[in-house]
Amino acid sequence: MKLLFVGPPGAGKGTQAARVAERLGIPHISTGDMFRDHVSRGTELGVRVDSIMKAGEYVPDEITVEMLRERVAEPDAKDGFILDGFPRTVGQAEALDGLIGRHGLDTVVVFEVEEDALVERLLARGRADDTEETLRTRFKVYQEQTAPLLDIYNARGIIVSIDGIGEVEEVTDRILEALDTDNRLPTAADPEGSQ
Ligand code: AMP
Repeated sequence: MKLLFVGPPGAGKGTQAARVAERLGIPHISTGDMFRDHVSRGTELGVRVDSIMKAGEYVPDEITVEMLRERVAEPDAKDGFILDGFPRTVGQAEALDGLIGRHGLDTVVVFEVEEDALVERLLARGRADDTEETLRTRFKVYQEQTAPLLDIYNARGIIVSIDGIGEVEEVTDRILEALDTDNRLPTAADPEGSQ
């Protein structure tokens, strides 16, 4: 099963992606975690992306896509994975289609969370790249660049929306149930055409 988790920063998607991946026995692939790992190890890539991440900006697509391409080619990702934080731009979504095919993703899980609840969660998390200014930039960048992705996946009829508010266990159950019952609405038309 190939899944994508999408949501604004702080929506809890990383936590949920890890939990659901474990339950389904597939890898959790988070480009944010991969970048943070490079930064903490002081690799060449880490040095390059450190200041970009601290500013709350997006790492350039060519760097991100190449890193993701290598990851999904690894043997553990052969039968499925949960993508968390990638794709985040229309360019990355197109690159993903190139890597796994236009029908490669089974489901896109979208987290719906109120902005006030999000801000609270992020400040409580206390991560190094979570300064107040960074948070504001990240919200803006999400709205501008990531929200349009949902139009693409909506047209394909593969989106399920999840209420991200609640206890961690409760939200995990909601997701598993949504994946199980597969209550996605068929779309009237696919403007991209079918292959
Ligand atoms: P995340 O943990 O997913 O919120 O990612 C933390 C930071 O890593 C982001 O604010 C970006 O700077 C960078 N990043 C992670 N994934 C991507 C991506 N798909 N495209 C561009 N930048 C990314």
